Amino acid sequence: MENVRKVLTELMSKRKLDTKFQNLMSSVYEDADVLAFCEAHKAELSSDSVARSASKLYEYVQERDKFNRHEPTLMPGYQPVLIVNNHMIEVSYKPSKQLLADEKQREFNSRVKSVNMPKMIRRAHFEDFYPDENRQSALNAALDFVQAYETDPHHFHKALYLSGSFGVGKTYLLGAIANELASQEFVSTLVHFPSFAVEMKNAIGENNLAEKLNIIKEAPILMLDDVGADAMSSWVRDEVLGVILEYRMQNELPTFFSSNFSMDQLEKEHLQINQRGESEPLKAKRLMERIKFLATEVTMVGVNRRQS
Ligand code: ADP
Ligand code: MG
Repeated sequence: MENVRKVLTELMSKRKLDTKFQNLMSSVYEDADVLAFCEAHKAELSSDSVARSASKLYEYVQERDKFNRHEPTLMPGYQPVLIVNNHMIEVSYKPSKQLLADEKQREFNSRVKSVNMPKMIRRAHFEDFYPDENRQSALNAALDFVQAYETDPHHFHKALYLSGSFGVGKTYLLGAIANELASQEFVSTLVHFPSFAVEMKNAIGENNLAEKLNIIKEAPILMLDDVGADAMSSWVRDEVLGVILEYRMQNELPTFFSSNFSMDQLEKEHLQINQRGESEPLKAKRLMERIKFLATEVTMVGVNRRQS
């Protein structure tokens, strides 16, 4: 095809086109993108092939304009582009930048699995974790874990038991660790333990209890948030927490904890007393041994950062 503009003008004025079609196509044949495309591909195109591609060119201009105006298109999220296929013009749809960014974000989010956790963990990042004197050691321990895990994910790494009072940022730090790991494509599972315990109790008698527990038990990286926040029945202690800890220790799977209690308090004040008020020091000790195998205690002290 020699003179693109001439071919397009001729197409417009061909007598066989009725006026309606001509009106429809005039803006298409004058379109700057269409012109530039035909110019760039004129070696592969003939005036006949351009004429027979009229509906494709029309589709392209329509869809492109809708896309640019952010209106619903034939292929939402995809941007129309013109291509030459076998000497004919066709419209191809390529993923828009927005679609690719959304997909990336979805993939990232899917790597931080959470069960009854506050939404704010999605926004938690090491960069925003203000380290004061007391929180610096927790931040360092978290960074050390992430570095060790990312360097050698197939070996056991002791995780952290974050202890400290309400509002010091324990949950925030767990979220920051999970997000950092997600950026390296590692999947973490964060579980608000008291809520999970209630869920397990409600699932007694249903046939999906084992399945629900297995998902948590077998998570590649697990974070149990707020252990000890609610009174734990012997059943939850032994059949839920105990089962999870046993499995994770045997399989050397990274397991984080956060608690308002120190390890010592958790053992003596929480795990040891059953709901009938009886003391079961051996059971508590066994559980604590597993926790200590899985995690190092880091105490976080500081101001309560909760607004409410
Ligand atoms: P904890 O789990 O120890 O009770 P949280 O992690 O829930 O404490 O933190 C309490 C509040 O402070 C939350 O609303 C959290 O979003 C906020 N917060 C904690 N640490 C930070 C931080 N470094 N930057 C911004 N907000 C923070
Ligand atoms: Mg918390």
